[in-house]
Amino acid sequence: MRGAMGTGRSFLLDPRALARSGKSWAGMVPVRGFDRLAVLAGARATAVDVRLDFGLDDDGRCRVRGHAQLRAEVPCQRCARTVTRAVEADIDLFVLASEAEARALTPGHDTCVVTDPRVPVAALIEDDLLLGFPEHGCEDRDACPHASLEAYRAPSPELEDGPSRARRDSPFAVLEDMTVARDTGAG
Ligand SMILES: [Zn+2]
Repeated sequence: MRGAMGTGRSFLLDPRALARSGKSWAGMVPVRGFDRLAVLAGARATAVDVRLDFGLDDDGRCRVRGHAQLRAEVPCQRCARTVTRAVEADIDLFVLASEAEARALTPGHDTCVVTDPRVPVAALIEDDLLLGFPEHGCEDRDACPHASLEAYRAPSPELEDGPSRARRDSPFAVLEDMTVARDTGAG
């Protein structure tokens, strides 16, 4: 369930009229027209590339299917860099006139309840874009390509002389490790 409030006035569509005539809509929607996405996407994200196909299902309900994508700046928690990532969302939702209609629909469908005939494009696609937003800047967080730089800068305990080095050099260190392992395993 999603509402059409507070998403700006630009790019207003009449989904039901478009669905009745089986039309499509495509355009570049400015990121600033999205409330929550604009905050996440970073200052350099400019527009969302949108394509939507409108149609009626067997019961005459307005169904919207399509695709939306943008380039967003996503911070990586591991290497602290901001990485430009593609954010994509497949859209498939019903535009309905009341919550009762939404409840009558088979569960599992995305719905957007709008009482006004016209609805901002952002209201149709923002939730799906937020769901598709990457959690981490670097695609594979464990294999973050920038993490090695961080490790290089970090002080390395391997290079320091100390008790740990002396222990490693001792031939009995291995035996000690085995004894500890067996003791803990039996307990
Ligand atoms: Zn990273």
